[in-house]
Amino acid sequence: MSVNFLVSSAVLVLRKSLPRPLTNIAKMSSEVEKAQTAGVAEDTIFGKILRKEIPCNFIYEDEKCVAFHDINAQAPTHFLVIPRKPIMQLSQASGDDSQLLGHLMLVGAKVAKDLGLDKGYRVVINNGQHGAQSVYHLHLHFLGGRQMQWPPG
Ligand code: AMP
Repeated sequence: MSVNFLVSSAVLVLRKSLPRPLTNIAKMSSEVEKAQTAGVAEDTIFGKILRKEIPCNFIYEDEKCVAFHDINAQAPTHFLVIPRKPIMQLSQASGDDSQLLGHLMLVGAKVAKDLGLDKGYRVVINNGQHGAQSVYHLHLHFLGGRQMQWPPG
């Protein structure tokens, strides 16, 4: 075995085991950072909110979902709509969830109207690591009250 082969193999192994460069991490927003390490546990902070183990003022609730203001608002109005059913993320929803998914959107549209977002708003679902999902209980973000930009970061 040549020395060159040994050295290049060692470099490859090192590269694979090294963490993401710190410079990249520094560029990430804290939500994106959280998404890199978010556990894919069945129970989440939203599960605790639904079970009322954590206080939260619902701005809407029915038998299928609840809506509440995001604790770290990214716009003058930023609320979340979450199903009571613990679906971890959009990519894990099934055909059985079609009605529920439609319901979440219509509830969000109603709450947005009630909150006076008559100039429009943005609806976001972050899915998985590249989607910057940090809480693994499906949720729809509704953001409004300012001009949104495109493309998103
Ligand atoms: P995502 O990054 O798409 O998973 O979004 C999770 C969102 O949940 C973030 O915008 C957080 O600010 C929000 N969040 C986390 N904990 C709470 C909480 N206790 N009450 C309201 N919003 C929360």
